[in-house]
Order: sequence, then structure tokens, then C-alpha cells
Amino acid sequence: MAETEHGIYFVEEVAKGIYKFYEQRNASIYLITGGKKACLIDTAYGLTDLKELVSHYTDLPVTVVNTHGHIDHILGDHWFDNAYLNSSDRAMYNEIVFEFSMLINEPWVQDFYGDFVKNIDAEEVHFPVPQDISDGDVIDLGGKTLEVYEMPGHTKGSIVLIDRADKLCFSGDSIIENLWLFLEESETPEIYLDSLKHIREVLTDAGIEKIYDGHYSYEPIPVAMLDTMVEAMELIVAGKLEGTEVENHAGKGIEYSYNGWKVICPLRGEAK
Ligand SMILES: [Zn+2]
Repeated sequence: MAETEHGIYFVEEVAKGIYKFYEQRNASIYLITGGKKACLIDTAYGLTDLKELVSHYTDLPVTVVNTHGHIDHILGDHWFDNAYLNSSDRAMYNEIVFEFSMLINEPWVQDFYGDFVKNIDAEEVHFPVPQDISDGDVIDLGGKTLEVYEMPGHTKGSIVLIDRADKLCFSGDSIIENLWLFLEESETPEIYLDSLKHIREVLTDAGIEKIYDGHYSYEPIPVAMLDTMVEAMELIVAGKLEGTEVENHAGKGIEYSYNGWKVICPLRGEAK
């Protein structure tokens, strides 16, 4: 579908009343509008006024839901007075909020986000206190619902959301073409594999057709990719897939490639 630009956001209506805001082609935010309410799935870095952005697409009250507690999914929460997050990622969220005022004055942040952070008065920035969201919760938007499923792996408190009516799933960083499982806050590959098998069953039963992730989704992920992911994770857990050691800003891990899908797992022998 056609993409338009709104400041630093690339906007696409992925289904009727459902918008993707791709912040600087880095992190994705989704706006789901129902008959009575709207839901914003993740808030990316929230570099510009997200409330203003959203007001161009809906005038319904907005509920914010975070797929997990990573900074590139929650930092824009401060534009809103409410947010939901699974309690297992709560400590991580609190830490980011606590460090926000120091963070915006860091030289690399000033260099990288200078235009966006130069006028921010940290004293004036208030984050909501997130309410817990967990397996089985249903967000009723009026004529449309979003169902919550926990999917521990990428982080302990990761969730995915399902819009059964439109046959869509919003997966954050849990179902994604480059999965990170090597973080301190990640669960083991074995636990992720269990999560993945469970979610594959849920999505298949619900007839979900497209998966929208929190980053790269120029195109939605087809549900068939879950089969590739399960196969890959089974081989990894069994020690039957060769990986390569990689290092990035988040640390060291072993990267595995399998039929076009990639995952970085913890270094072998590392206690989790
Ligand atoms: Zn993440």
C-alpha cells in the first residue's frame, strides 16, 4: 500500500483504519482504530510529538500497549498518560525512565538526535506508570479487539497482539527477520522455541495472514515463516546448526542463518 511521509514518520495504512508509523525507518509504531477507542502498539523513540501525529489519523481516545520494555519501543510513551506492559519487563522500563534525563544529555545522544532533544526539558517529561498486561487479556476497541499472548524469548515480558478480524498479528521483536535472543534479558533458546511453537498454533488456528514486526517490516511476514523459524530453533537447540560468532553494540553472540531467517543466540556454555 502507498506510503506517505509525516515528518520523520513513514506512514502506511496497512489495513482499513490500521496505520504503521515507521520512525526514521528504524522502529515501527502501529495505530489500530476501532469504533470507540484506538490502540497504539509501541511508541518507538517518540522523537516528535506522537499525540500530534496520531491526531491526524484518529480523534478516538488512545491506549498505549508496549510489546516489550526495550528503549526503541517505549521511549515515546511519555507523550501519553497511559501505557500497558507485561510485568516481567517492568524493571527494564523503570530503568530507562529513570535514566531518561541523563540519557538525553549524553554526547552520543546529542550528536545523533540533536535536533530532537535540544529543546527537551527533562523535568517536564513524564512517563506513565505502566499497567500490567498478560496472556489472555483482550483490548476492546469497539467492534474490534486485540488479543494478548505472552511470547517470552527476546525479552521475558514480550507479548504479541492479534487482530482476529483483520487476520493480523503485531509481533514487536518476537517474530522478526533478525531475532535477538542473546541479550541479558532474553530467555533461553529452549524457552523461545516453546513460545514460538505455541504462538504458531495460535496464529494458525486464528487464520492470521500477516505479521507486522517492530522494525523491518517493509513487507509483512507471512505466517509460513514460523515453520522456518521453528525448524531453525529445533536445529539450534539440538546443536545441529553451525553459527558464527558476532559482536554488536549489545554484546557477543552466535548468529545462525537458516533459509533466509537469522537469529543471534547466546554464546555456547554461557550460563543464563
Ligand atoms: Zn527489542
